[in-house]
Amino acid sequence: MERRRLPVLFALIFAGWVMAQQKNASQATNPVEGVASGRTRVVDLGYAINDRLVKWPGDTRVFEARTNASVEKNGYFTRSFWMLEHYGTHMDAPIHFPPGKTPVDRIPVEHLFGPAVLIDVRAEAARDADYRLRVERVERWEQAHGRIAPGSIVLLRTGWAARWPDAVRYRNQDAAGVMHSPGFSVESVRVLIERKVSGIGIDTISADAGASKDFEVHRAALGAGLYHLENLANLSALPEAGAFLVVAPIKLEGGSGGPCRVFAILP
Ligand SMILES: [Zn+2]
Repeated sequence: MERRRLPVLFALIFAGWVMAQQKNASQATNPVEGVASGRTRVVDLGYAINDRLVKWPGDTRVFEARTNASVEKNGYFTRSFWMLEHYGTHMDAPIHFPPGKTPVDRIPVEHLFGPAVLIDVRAEAARDADYRLRVERVERWEQAHGRIAPGSIVLLRTGWAARWPDAVRYRNQDAAGVMHSPGFSVESVRVLIERKVSGIGIDTISADAGASKDFEVHRAALGAGLYHLENLANLSALPEAGAFLVVAPIKLEGGSGGPCRVFAILP
């Protein structure tokens, strides 16, 4: 081989190697590849919607569905439905509480995809129904798995899903009607805001502890542009780190939130 052609040959080999690396990298980092074939497991973190789910105290009309056309009469099947924005597995958009501003349809789509940070407080919540996530628990997660990445979605696993759909046990109200369920604390949420997470989620009726009167987690998190996911299902199937979330709220123009599909792609 002529000496002049050698550099060309090496350049071609190098270009081929770079392309192969890029192909490998795209295969390794695309979290949804393998879902269709079943190689990658997806967990559905939502409850199916009907009129028998746990409702917020005081809510009367929550969900109604009516058959508009039936196969017998019309040759096809359609329904119409009515429901609250905050019922079942749902999202709280920032506009839900002041000083939050963004309605559910205006949340940047990039915020709806992110690594799932799962903090397990089942033991604490079993001892204390009014448990609020302590900053030390967030720090302990980071000691084990590294600093929480920007764009993460932080899920609190309290074990409350085991009480669903028993409204009495899930809301856990005392004689005065005050609910007792675990939640985030405003101190822990301030740390998560600092970490620039996209949202927080929980397997109870509210991101705030049930007994909260001032909804300070709602004000702090939504005010900082985060969203909440409430009444999440199946958090027991998630690892503390390594899952990837896809969050798909209904795109209601100007909505305060709404029913939401949430999928966890397991590592
Ligand atoms: Zn809500």
